[in-house]
Amino acid sequence: MTSSVHPSSSSLLTREGDEKYANVNWEELGFALIPTDYMYVAKCKQGESFSEGKIVPYGDISISPCAAIFNHGQGIFEGLKAYRTEDERITLFRPDQNGLRMQNGADRLCMTPPSVEQFVEAVKQTVLANKKWVPPPGKGTLYVRPLLIGSGPMLGIASAPEYTFLVYVSPVAEYHKVSSGPLNLEVNDKYRRSHAGGTGGVKSCINYCPIVKPVLEAKSAGFSDILFLDAATGRNIEEISTCNIFIVKGNIVSTPPISGTILPGITRKSIIELARDISYQVQERDVSVDELLEAEEVFCTGTATVVKAVETVTFHEKRVKYKTGEEALSTKLYTMLTNIQMGVVEDKKGWVVEIDGCHD
Ligand SMILES: *Cc1c(COP(=O)(O)O)cnc(C)c1O
Repeated sequence: MTSSVHPSSSSLLTREGDEKYANVNWEELGFALIPTDYMYVAKCKQGESFSEGKIVPYGDISISPCAAIFNHGQGIFEGLKAYRTEDERITLFRPDQNGLRMQNGADRLCMTPPSVEQFVEAVKQTVLANKKWVPPPGKGTLYVRPLLIGSGPMLGIASAPEYTFLVYVSPVAEYHKVSSGPLNLEVNDKYRRSHAGGTGGVKSCINYCPIVKPVLEAKSAGFSDILFLDAATGRNIEEISTCNIFIVKGNIVSTPPISGTILPGITRKSIIELARDISYQVQERDVSVDELLEAEEVFCTGTATVVKAVETVTFHEKRVKYKTGEEALSTKLYTMLTNIQMGVVEDKKGWVVEIDGCHD
């Protein structure tokens, strides 16, 4: 991944609408955070509703050292993208699904979430305020990061007295354009990501710090990422560090079920529907490592990755190679999904949400 893009430091001084694009070298876009002009912030007391949020200059926020997010990790994040289409519309992909997922996570972590309507409105406002940071079509997308945190102070095991909902954005490259080659996964039999009854099924901040070490270990052994196994038996595959997994054999596409231990990906859900539209049989069920090793094709899905073929999987001493390239189902599904997202084909599913007031 590249990480050397420097945005214009004077961007806050230019009046909104002055220029179509921010001062970014779009050809060199990577995945590192590029600070943009504005963010959205709203607060609420526990159990009450969020006040109307404000668009404020992007920057540091001030919260108590005793905040629940710092001490107990009481936080949920989301991730989605804003797209600039060839005909100059700015769109979002199924943002209501992210709002719903934040609500489910908030329920699990005893937090007060924004309504789905407020969530979507906040995302729209933040994207509009940072419109010139949405990359040109084909160069990338604007990654949107909504965050819900326990910002009120507390010491004991309790739910925070105050919550902050914020949204910030950063332009990112097309993953396919900059990712370093094919995915070579290691099936990890040493660490577990999630367990029944835990928080693996929600996008809780506390799920991510513990997987850094396993991922770094895998990377230093030459793998691109790891595939986690279920904690209960160690026999079934669950997901990759930030994306869901699918296996293909003949006309059957299988993916682990949503049962609380994997993250219910919105890309996963969309890909299941698209695969069924082209007459594949999709099964959401336990998938064993043995089946993985016998599959013809393996791919993963997520907002950042979109759909990406897995070239090899390594389990203990065994390495298996899968079908990739133009003939692969993952290539077909990638094209189907990105054509909808980028407005290349008509969206017959009502997935694409246009942001009002985008026409220049
Ligand atoms: C976010 C995430 C995904 C993918 O979800 P999308 O909604 O498709 O972006 C998959 N697994 C994990 C662990 C995640 O955090």
